[in-house]
Amino acid sequence: MQKIVILGGGESGVGAALLAQAKGYEVFLSDKSLLRADYRQTLIKNNIAFEEGQHTEALILNATEIVKSPGIPDNAPLVQQLYAQNTPVISEIELAARYTKAKKIAITGSNGKTTTTLLVYHLLKSAGLNVGLGGNIGESFAKQVINDTFDWFVLELSSFQLDNMYNFKADVGILLNITPDHLDRYNYQFQNYVNSKFRLLQNMTATDDFIYFAENEAIQKELSYKAFSVNYLPISLEKTLEKGGFFRDGILHVKNHSATFEIEANELPIKGAHNVLNTLSAVLAAQAAGLTNAQIRTGLLSFQNASHRLELVKTHHEVQFVNDSKATNVDSVFYALGSFNDPIIWIAGGVDKGNDYTQIQALVRQKVKALVCLGKDNSKLLSFFTPIVPIIIETQDVKDAVAQARALSQPGDVVLLSPACASFDLFKNYEDRGNQFKAAVLELF
Ligand code: ADP
Repeated sequence: MQKIVILGGGESGVGAALLAQAKGYEVFLSDKSLLRADYRQTLIKNNIAFEEGQHTEALILNATEIVKSPGIPDNAPLVQQLYAQNTPVISEIELAARYTKAKKIAITGSNGKTTTTLLVYHLLKSAGLNVGLGGNIGESFAKQVINDTFDWFVLELSSFQLDNMYNFKADVGILLNITPDHLDRYNYQFQNYVNSKFRLLQNMTATDDFIYFAENEAIQKELSYKAFSVNYLPISLEKTLEKGGFFRDGILHVKNHSATFEIEANELPIKGAHNVLNTLSAVLAAQAAGLTNAQIRTGLLSFQNASHRLELVKTHHEVQFVNDSKATNVDSVFYALGSFNDPIIWIAGGVDKGNDYTQIQALVRQKVKALVCLGKDNSKLLSFFTPIVPIIIETQDVKDAVAQARALSQPGDVVLLSPACASFDLFKNYEDRGNQFKAAVLELF
């Protein structure tokens, strides 16, 4: 019997365990930390062998195949040992894809994955298609293919998932952008991270749609010397295109082989240049799934994005308080700052991921009237922005950050939490940071 070992007992690991058991593998799940109570119960109820708080190496090294959680880095000694003895190490997505006949729309990029994935899913679902949502979001893909009832899946893929995917094939692939992020997991080599993102294209064929942002530097460079046998559908903010998606005079234009769709940016519920890109990509995917223009339009107009992404919390005395806690890298802050024409009081900081702030230097100079640093170690922000921003304040308390920002604000300003950093110094995660920010804003008024 094939012995599968699952490393990591979160949503994807438990889903993989359930799927592997349903498909007749001998399954063992191992997590170095303690499991969430409901996941533990699921494993017990389904008679799946597991351990928590430890890894028993002898059992793990004896596996015929390993499913590794995306959170476990490749340089963990145990993972290195598995690679050294040539044990196949796959992701939950790779395992799940073996067991579905559904068509797959796979979405990756450094920023915009969740927004675009939710938007594509919403478009297909509201058009009446029988569609599932999975990957880095919601319920695990693996659990959802046990009975394999969907015709389509919309999958959000992180680079860590792509790293352990080999035979997975996307029918439609969306590559939103590649900008520096997670470099700590890629040997501080940006090219390694780029290669990981381009794994999206492996196994795609000439009839599969590849939707990508043509003006992203890293994507452009990669495509300048590598050719893929796919149907290229570029997205542009600068040029008019014969095929693909582009933006001109406030109107989004989308053309695939057989359909043409247009909509004004003003009509869309999600704002900013980044959301124009996300929407152009999502509409191309919807066209690939055969949606009519009327269906696409209805879906776009009724879309509600997830929280913590340029979310307007409150407008008080003409000051907007905006929660963009999900902006954990510099590129997402670039788009956040670009989304407002009003003066910004910018709340940023947290755990630095090797940030280079050069990309936003000019925008900050032009738009930011005060910077509130909300982190344990703000030295990098301070040294970069002290010559640029007239007022800089430091705090480790989110309520204090909001109160100080409010004190500095005048009618017409925007108080923007868009941290450019991870949240683990002061918060559980970005959701916790965003929720505390929202609570602090609502408490003030
Ligand atoms: P991801 O799942 O890739 O992290 P999200 O949709 O959750 O992407 O958005 C993360 C952050 O990036 C948010 O601050 C959001 O406003 C910003 N963002 C969304 N789409 C884009 C894009 N296409 N380019 C740059 N930033 C974006």
